[in-house]
Amino acid sequence: MLDKIKNEIVKAFLFDGDFIYAEPFGCGHINATYAVYFRRETKPPVRYILQAVNTTIFTDPQGLMENIQGVTSHLRKKIQEQGGDPQRETLTLVPTRDGKLLYEDSDGGFWRSYLFIENAACHQSVNRPVLFTNAAKAFGHFQKLLADYPADTLHETIADFHNTVNRYELFEKAVAEDKAGRAASVEKEIRFFLDRKADGAVVVDAIKEGRLPLRVTHNDTKLNNIMMDNDTDEGICVIDLDTVMPGSVLYDFGDSIRFGASTADEDEQNLSLVSMDLGLFEAYTAGFLSEAGASLTDEEIRLLPFSAKLLTLECGMRFLTDYLNGDTYFRIHREHHNLDRCRTQITLVADMERKMEEMKKIVAKYVNRT
Ligand code: ATP
Ligand code: MG
Ligand code: MG
Repeated sequence: MLDKIKNEIVKAFLFDGDFIYAEPFGCGHINATYAVYFRRETKPPVRYILQAVNTTIFTDPQGLMENIQGVTSHLRKKIQEQGGDPQRETLTLVPTRDGKLLYEDSDGGFWRSYLFIENAACHQSVNRPVLFTNAAKAFGHFQKLLADYPADTLHETIADFHNTVNRYELFEKAVAEDKAGRAASVEKEIRFFLDRKADGAVVVDAIKEGRLPLRVTHNDTKLNNIMMDNDTDEGICVIDLDTVMPGSVLYDFGDSIRFGASTADEDEQNLSLVSMDLGLFEAYTAGFLSEAGASLTDEEIRLLPFSAKLLTLECGMRFLTDYLNGDTYFRIHREHHNLDRCRTQITLVADMERKMEEMKKIVAKYVNRT
């Protein structure tokens, strides 16, 4: 692939200087990411990010790029108005020589390029709570700057991504079909999700009925999708915009808490280690609301604690659905891996239900409505 990048791909983009070399870059799991280096006559060398889009997952790369272009243009304008540095605080696409956002290579692969954000890094784990707060601020800021973006103009690049009503339908179908003959052995887990079916409709119905606004959602709010400044650890730029779609702010907040505030790994087998850490919940809530609080509606704020439970419920149900279907969607590394994952999520949901009042108090503490 490095030869192909050198001989074909880099020539297609509007890069500055003479190509030196390319190398695989970063820890992404979805796209193939490279850094490409260029020498320039009077200026220091420069590098760019070059990515082959994963078209197995993203079947509409054109629509996906339109989403990214729309959202980053809006962010750029806002950042400029506020006197910030748009080339550092949002992704900047480098076009192809014929002015397109994507280059289709001779094998049908789709490539795109971004300016490289220097003096910043992506952290892989929350080894200090301050990183979690800073991540929350960055995602809150992203939400705040996009609060006036017409979310209904975005393409839904993965249909029904957080449609929990639809997720319940798929789950009940998997139980009824029982393709892998496992339903009888997980009756308790099945019952757990069925008992909470009404929760699945709360956000979906509220959006449909106009009680919750449709917003730009990121849908992959992991710590390593934020570039953090090397000197200050501040979250300077939200990256990985492939899953940007119309949705609810509650999806991003809830999912961040689901994986970021958990005390154990997603597939921990010792469930006594699994809980939702209220300290981490507070760290994230404080950061998120300090940026996005003023742009959220009362109903969104009211549902923040619930959203953590909802997204955890959804995730656990997806693991169980896949387990019942015979492990066809999530990659597994051991027998019953999906069941283990499902059980951590169930444990988290139950813990969140116990801690719901405390979560509400924490949200109330950081809401500033003056
Ligand atoms: P994921 O597994 O999170 O979905 P992905 O495969 O979609 O990842 P990205 O997150 O877009 O890939 O990029 C992979 C890595 O490349 C990032 O974690 C980051 O380290 C680096 N990276 C991406 N864009 C830039 C950029 N503009 N400047 C510097 N580094 C970047
Ligand atoms: Mg990423
Ligand atoms: Mg990604």
